[in-house]
Amino acid sequence: MPLPPIAENLQSVYNRIETAARSVGRRPEEIILVAVSKTHPWDYVAAAIAAGQLDFGENRPEEAHAKFVENPDAAGANFRLHLIGPIQSRKAKVALACNPVLIHSIDRMKIARKLDALAGRQGVVLDALLEVNVSGEASKHGWSPDDLREQLPELLALPHLRFHGLMTIPPYDPDPETARPYFIALRELQETLAADFPESDWSQLSMGMSHDFEVAIAEGATIVRVGTAIFGPREYK
Ligand SMILES: *Cc1c(COP(=O)(O)O)cnc(C)c1O
Repeated sequence: MPLPPIAENLQSVYNRIETAARSVGRRPEEIILVAVSKTHPWDYVAAAIAAGQLDFGENRPEEAHAKFVENPDAAGANFRLHLIGPIQSRKAKVALACNPVLIHSIDRMKIARKLDALAGRQGVVLDALLEVNVSGEASKHGWSPDDLREQLPELLALPHLRFHGLMTIPPYDPDPETARPYFIALRELQETLAADFPESDWSQLSMGMSHDFEVAIAEGATIVRVGTAIFGPREYK
């Protein structure tokens, strides 16, 4: 099967990021594009790397490990791997073995404690974001803003996790404007948490996917996670 035009797709996404950023007076260099390669084979990643892409996102630790760590073709390649999906406790070890540059999806105390303990045993510190469920939708992972606030003292005291901000996934709607209030809510939460917990770094907002990243950038996203617009359709979410 021929590959989709990955280099062209990437160029078009970067152009759209630039336009979205400039339209609200932001610098496009402030925004990191994470190319979400889940479900796609290494060939797709290699094509993106050849086009100059550095940051990749995977949502299943085992798939990430097989593709980016065990795979001999990945050895020596220049990439940064982001874990963006929910991590089950029994997958915490694999997640750590992926050497992620950033885990976007710390969504409950149990996985925070587990990753902290494993990282401590290996003498490493993991960079991470806190995933917030701003919509309150039951099917979504993430902290409610109230629970997060309550647990933050314990979270920020974990010595082997270093937090840098928040991540969210709004309820899916093909109209990107539907997501705007959730992006605004995440940014407002970031602002209040930054004021109340100034000892932590709150600079990063991971929000926006293929269909709504321009709205997310307008509302302050510093990291967008884009799969379909770069790699084409997938068989599952
Ligand atoms: C799959 C996924 C994305 C990318 O979704 P697209 O709609 O294909 O851009 C972004 N974020 C997370 C957490 C995902 O699981």
